[in-house]
Amino acid sequence: GPAIPEEYYLPADSLGTHPDTLLTRRANATLLMLARNSDVDNAVRSVRRLEDRFNRKFGYPWVFLNEEPFSEEFKTRMSNVIGSEATYAQIPPHHWYQPDWIDEDKARAGRDKMVADNIIYGGSVSYRNMCRFNSGFFFRHPILQKYKWYWRVEPDVHFHCDVDYDPFLYMEDHNKTYGFTITMYEFGATIPTLWDTTKEFIKAHPEYVAKNNAMGYMSDDNGNSYNLCHFWSNFEIANMDFWRGEAYSKYFDFLDAKGGFYYERWGDAPVHSIAVSLFQSKDQIQFFDEIGYEHNPYTHCPKGDGAWRRGKCDCEIKHSFDYNGYSCMRQWDRIQ
Ligand code: GDP
Ligand code: MN
Repeated sequence: GPAIPEEYYLPADSLGTHPDTLLTRRANATLLMLARNSDVDNAVRSVRRLEDRFNRKFGYPWVFLNEEPFSEEFKTRMSNVIGSEATYAQIPPHHWYQPDWIDEDKARAGRDKMVADNIIYGGSVSYRNMCRFNSGFFFRHPILQKYKWYWRVEPDVHFHCDVDYDPFLYMEDHNKTYGFTITMYEFGATIPTLWDTTKEFIKAHPEYVAKNNAMGYMSDDNGNSYNLCHFWSNFEIANMDFWRGEAYSKYFDFLDAKGGFYYERWGDAPVHSIAVSLFQSKDQIQFFDEIGYEHNPYTHCPKGDGAWRRGKCDCEIKHSFDYNGYSCMRQWDRIQ
């Protein structure tokens, strides 16, 4: 996309100035991390990196979610690296655990098959809980109700460049819904029936499909089949009002009722990506080239002219995932 306009950047001499003195405007936004207590080392490192590269200048609050109570150690160590407000909240059990109406024998058979086929997290129920929670529930958490925007952060991710502008305000002013840094192919074996289920949904609800949608990024044959391209959702900057809205709520309920989060291993990444690509216009999706980002094993490094220098990036442009054969940047570029 086009470069971020100058007005969204901080003044060059603002280093060390407190956000409250510096900023005239803030978005209704939070930084958000789902984590286990056992993730504490990597979780603290991620947060410290984003504080250093971005949030120490902007002072957005943090929200941490966990299906168990956070330990005192987690809270103490985390708050020690955060300059703004942090909230540690527990997830209601019915937002997290496998529902009773799921046929456990069928679910177990699905897991066993994926273990036999060597699918990553194929045998894990907790991973499925997490994917379903991130697909349909995090934005319903009571703590998040007051926020419109979130930036999803995971343990042990890296931010390779200074982010000296406010991505939330940029998105708000430009009517964006969803921002990403890395796009790639999903493992087809984790979502055998997701596309057919989606087609069934849009046949029943053609009114939710946006005119200028991004179908051309996800399908090479006008929507007949899914090319497995999705936005890597361990990084997301997005508008929760979209997830809370009618189209996505109905879509999620439809998917959930099919049981594919447990019978298969539907990920929140393809679910979010398909929804935003179909139910929003393609220009409501933002590729954040300026944000250098790494989640093992892949890195996005800014390719934009000057962005790498301006952001004092410590990544190598040549190694950016954008140019990798598994990247879906080609499919993204072709619809621009
Ligand atoms: P991957 O990136 O797909 O390999 O999956 P991760 O292990 O990074 O999990 C994705 C996110 O969900 C991370 O923020 C994890 O900390 C979090 N997560 C995964 N499983 C659980 C879980 O059982 N409980 C909690 N509270 N968080 C989890
Ligand atoms: Mn991860």
